[in-house]
Amino acid sequence: MENDTVRTGTTGTGREVAAADTGRDFIRDIVQSDLEAGRVQSVVTRFPPEPNGFLHLGHAKSICLNFGVAQDFGGRCHLRFDDTNPVKEEQAFIDAIQRDVHWLGFDWGMHLHHASDYFEQLYEWAEHLIGTGKAYVDDTPPEAMRAQRGTLTEPGQNSPFRTRSIDENLDLFRRMRAGEFPNGARVLRAKIDMASGNMNLRDPVLYRILHATHPRTGDAWCIYPTYDFAHGQSDAIEGITHSVCTLEFEDHRPLYDWFIENLPVPSRPHQYEFARLNLTYTVLSKRHLTRLVREGHVSGWDDPRMPTLAGIRRRGVPAAALREFVRRVGVARAYSVVDVAMLDSAVRDTLNPVAERRMAVLRPLKLIIENYPEGQTEKLTAMNHPDNPDAGSREITFGRELYVEQEDFMENPPKKFFRLSPGREVRLRWGYFVTCREIVKDTNGTVVALRCTYDPASKGGNSPDGRKVQATLHWVAAADAVQAEVRLYSHLFNRPDPGADGDALDDLNPQSLDVLTGCLVEPALQCARIGEAVQFERNGYFAADPDTRPDRLVFNRTVGLRDTWAKVQARP
Ligand code: ATP
Ligand code: MG
Repeated sequence: MENDTVRTGTTGTGREVAAADTGRDFIRDIVQSDLEAGRVQSVVTRFPPEPNGFLHLGHAKSICLNFGVAQDFGGRCHLRFDDTNPVKEEQAFIDAIQRDVHWLGFDWGMHLHHASDYFEQLYEWAEHLIGTGKAYVDDTPPEAMRAQRGTLTEPGQNSPFRTRSIDENLDLFRRMRAGEFPNGARVLRAKIDMASGNMNLRDPVLYRILHATHPRTGDAWCIYPTYDFAHGQSDAIEGITHSVCTLEFEDHRPLYDWFIENLPVPSRPHQYEFARLNLTYTVLSKRHLTRLVREGHVSGWDDPRMPTLAGIRRRGVPAAALREFVRRVGVARAYSVVDVAMLDSAVRDTLNPVAERRMAVLRPLKLIIENYPEGQTEKLTAMNHPDNPDAGSREITFGRELYVEQEDFMENPPKKFFRLSPGREVRLRWGYFVTCREIVKDTNGTVVALRCTYDPASKGGNSPDGRKVQATLHWVAAADAVQAEVRLYSHLFNRPDPGADGDALDDLNPQSLDVLTGCLVEPALQCARIGEAVQFERNGYFAADPDTRPDRLVFNRTVGLRDTWAKVQARP
């Protein structure tokens, strides 16, 4: 496993590795001690995506953690859509998220929830805060409100509307709900402390006016709760015991607790934070991913170069590989950036024992076996997996005309090149020993074919007399090879920290997609199942793309056999 490093900040390095190895982490430690001390009877977690984009690798970490904790401790995990911003949210995203969580191997059972299920209750609680003098309607225009908020070093100023009477606040809030005011005219704010050192406690906004149709509640509402007002209360309604989120929300925790403190909620959830997943050569922010799609830099949310679960699945990565990757990364509070090569390793380690082997030639070079009778072919047996006889075998065709990779031949080979060159004998996998006798070139001097001979006594690729060959090549037979398009992917970004010096999209790798047409593959690959990776021997893992049609095979490279990126980068 090359490049399997978790790069971390100055704290917590040892801890993260230990956590990944044992399958334990500080969140599980907290849950365990809460259960042992009887602070909770049974653990209830939730995964709360906002349906404003597709799920990505970062979400996979959160899903595996939340659902994994519930599984490990016999509790349950809810899927809750945080659908409080109808302007950005779409049904298509809701559907994709459910599909992706299921694909990753988790099930919420009866517990599919939406923040919008609680709009009426949240509204009542907003009135409750008004009634207890802890919330007020503010007419301050947005810009002035921003100015009054102060800065990290200066306290904010009280809004002139902060002293409105309870009755006036109730009246205005009800009229906000009734649709009397345009977008942005007024907001409802909590009355906490404009001088607080925590900006989140400087009278945060609880409701804003948004005349927008909601995917679920339609036009029933024209005021919508903010994330902060919806989240903890939704947790409380659902009986969530451990509300696990990423560290950006650490500063929101006092506000989370303030609502729970000041509202008649049915349970008292607690928020815990962990470090979000960051990956080299990758962006994991929906803002950027949305731009990649909208601006056409990729073919869609499921483009195989995207770090979305849909893209990764399309590339042929099995869900088990993602779960294994997340397990290896572990859960910690320390900031870290994970080498994307670690994902590739998890994919290889997951696919290697299970992926069936096939032969496919990406850049074909013709071999003519001169001592093989014209018009004749024969069947040979190829094992589907070298370490697993239960995977069975298949028949492949051998004949006078074959194809090998162009890169497996060199006219003037350097010392360590053991593959085909004039006079050199090699083994064709599951086939015969062949020797290169003559090079055929076109008028430009390009090599177009090799004339070879084969040793009939070496059937199956076995040496007839103990003589050794130094290379085994994959190949296909002209008689039944099938044309295919193969899409090779590399990193979407050309620097490990896209965006570090400006706009991340300026760091796009213009060579992230390489489409090879005219590849030749063995006929068994016509039955390849979409999205299920097989190993093209010596070339890597590949999966049929959904663009495949009966007359047009299309394969995506899931991952190469080893990490070649570092070497490519090192080239002068
Ligand atoms: P983004 O920053 O990509 O827009 P988000 O946090 O806005 O992500 P949500 O749909 O709100 O996206 O996220 C749902 C859950 O997934 C949240 O609990 C969030 O903390 C978690 N999550 C999002 N990104 C990551 C990440 N990179 N690593 C771990 N967890 C993440
Ligand atoms: Mg979010």
